[in-house]
Amino acid sequence: MVTVEIDSQSGFCGGVIRAISQAERFLSGQDHLYSLGAIVHNEAELDRLGARGLRTVASIPDVPAGETVLIRAHGEPPATYAAARGRGLTVIDCTCPVVLKLQQHIREAYARLHADGFHGTLLIFGKIGHAEVLGLLGQVDGDAIVVESRAMLEEALPSIDFNQPVEIFSQTTKSPSEYAEVCGVLAERMAAVRGVPADALAGALTVHDTICAQVANRHGHLAAFARSHDLILFVAGESSSNGRVLFDLCRRENPRSFRIGSPADIDPAWLLPGDRVGVCGATSTPKWLLEAVAGAVRAL
Ligand code: SF4
Repeated sequence: MVTVEIDSQSGFCGGVIRAISQAERFLSGQDHLYSLGAIVHNEAELDRLGARGLRTVASIPDVPAGETVLIRAHGEPPATYAAARGRGLTVIDCTCPVVLKLQQHIREAYARLHADGFHGTLLIFGKIGHAEVLGLLGQVDGDAIVVESRAMLEEALPSIDFNQPVEIFSQTTKSPSEYAEVCGVLAERMAAVRGVPADALAGALTVHDTICAQVANRHGHLAAFARSHDLILFVAGESSSNGRVLFDLCRRENPRSFRIGSPADIDPAWLLPGDRVGVCGATSTPKWLLEAVAGAVRAL
């Protein structure tokens, strides 16, 4: 007999819960609301909210003048707010408070890096083209280097002046271990250029701990959850970047990990008699979908 357990820490993060509840509150009194980009990277949840009147648009000019537009938890660059004002839109700003603080810290770092004749470098460890990263870049008029991986940082190293100060931030949903590796490479190169030990770079290299605590805490917990089950069903939308990071973690810990979008994706051949099945997901996976997947496994 197969047993099923849902990971207690999987499901929406605080930022997504806040954005969705604000959209639902608005839609309880109106028949439609425009969302700038997908409010959550999960197709099933988008279908549910779409049926309630949430219309996803790609850019501000897609919103009819005078309407209301919701800014999702990822945040936006200042140019978006200016464009919304220009069209006479009412803005429901659901930028996650954690992202708002990160945007502010990036503006402050940029000012420091260019104060008193310095020409320092601002680095962002994040996914190129991701909405949160675009919002961060917009705080400094795009004057930062974005790297997605250690390999990308190594390519960028020759363009960084290590005799000037360097500050690095991470997108909130990146992997803590990959960020630590990237920062290690950065410190090594700076130490080599300056001819000092890597632990003597205070004031020259500033590493900001900006991975969201809700995400960082999930890594250790999810790794243990994946190890303690025979089979893992990881539920996430196709476009969820946090989903990719967390699924890779599950697969490293448990090779019998499968990524699915809905109960319909479960292949009964994956299950063996006596399996302890773990169901988990990303910060963009709704609890109701995790429960539907667990129910489908029980029915099998
Ligand atoms: S992952 Fe963290 S920072 Fe990002 S939206 Fe969720 S709560 Fe906010």
